[in-house]
Amino acid sequence: MHELSLCHAIAGVVKSHTAGRQVDVVRVQVGALRQVVPESLEFCWTLVRSHEDMPEAELELELVPAEVRCGQCGHRGGLESRWAVCCSRCRSGEVEVLRGNEFLVTSLDVT
Ligand SMILES: [Zn+2]
Repeated sequence: MHELSLCHAIAGVVKSHTAGRQVDVVRVQVGALRQVVPESLEFCWTLVRSHEDMPEAELELELVPAEVRCGQCGHRGGLESRWAVCCSRCRSGEVEVLRGNEFLVTSLDVT
């Protein structure tokens, strides 16, 4: 499961920064193009956090909408569908992704 391996990756980052302190909140930025289902990520986190001995740690997701710039018509904007990366004006697939590929732990609250 995609989300489960992402949660293990999050836990690895958290543990390397907290050195055994109690973790209360983990904030994660997730781009729309990562094709992550937020509910599934949150569910997997409840499994991983108890396995990783940080049962208090709440996951806070910040969802980042996708934004692309079209190489054909120069249009800059969001995507009509998160599953098809193409220009919403001319349908060209020749687009540069400006935002939407994020997946990172942005901050932690520890006690
Ligand atoms: Zn275009």
